[in-house]
Amino acid sequence: MGIKESETSNNNCSHKPIVPPDKPHSLTILAEPTSDCNLACAYCYKGNKSHKIMSHLTLENMLKKIILYNEQHNLSSSFVWHGGEPTMVGQNFFKKVFDYIDSLNCKHSISHAIQTNGTLLNDPLLDILAEHKVSIGVSLDGIAEYHDRIRPFKKGTPTHHKILEGLQKAKDKNIDIGILMSITNDNIAYITEMFEFCRKNRFTFGINPITADLHSPHSEPLPGFVLFLSRRLCEDRN
Ligand code: SF4
Repeated sequence: MGIKESETSNNNCSHKPIVPPDKPHSLTILAEPTSDCNLACAYCYKGNKSHKIMSHLTLENMLKKIILYNEQHNLSSSFVWHGGEPTMVGQNFFKKVFDYIDSLNCKHSISHAIQTNGTLLNDPLLDILAEHKVSIGVSLDGIAEYHDRIRPFKKGTPTHHKILEGLQKAKDKNIDIGILMSITNDNIAYITEMFEFCRKNRFTFGINPITADLHSPHSEPLPGFVLFLSRRLCEDRN
């Protein structure tokens, strides 16, 4: 679990921050209910994935400590449920999270987001997420032909169609959806298609992280990415 204090500031850098830097107003908590995952992505950074799931006792202790701290310090809380694959813990785990938080009667706002591979987005889970206004970030690396090679199920079978099914269900329930695309030299050709797919469906679109190839990441932007961005910027200006 990682915790990051964030500051409220005006994005326009020519203006002064609304809240001074020494007075954060919210705390972002990256929580990992399991490191287990049902996929075998080629670029996965997770080593041995344990099948363990965070116990209810640990969950309650974590929520209580963080939320009480935030209440005492006038901070709102923003939980990002990460993994592994966080949806592997099932809908009852998340129901427990929301029920327990409700029982604490907090004064300050608490929001939730899930970063998921999108293959386990079934109706019971999505109903709970919709009810509690949880936004979801789904990893999708382009068209099926490429995505399924890089992000297959553990047994090697394709995931792309399953993710699209889950996205449609989530969209039907008015859940806020963001798509995260990991780009490399091999799939950068699909970036415009992915951008248009997100725009058409009103999904937000993010890119993660820009590497030259799967096995030797470096910090230089890919030339194709720079070209894509420049074209988008030009289009937005016209
Ligand atoms: S979805 Fe892929 S990258 Fe994420 S934990 Fe599972 S195998 Fe790793």
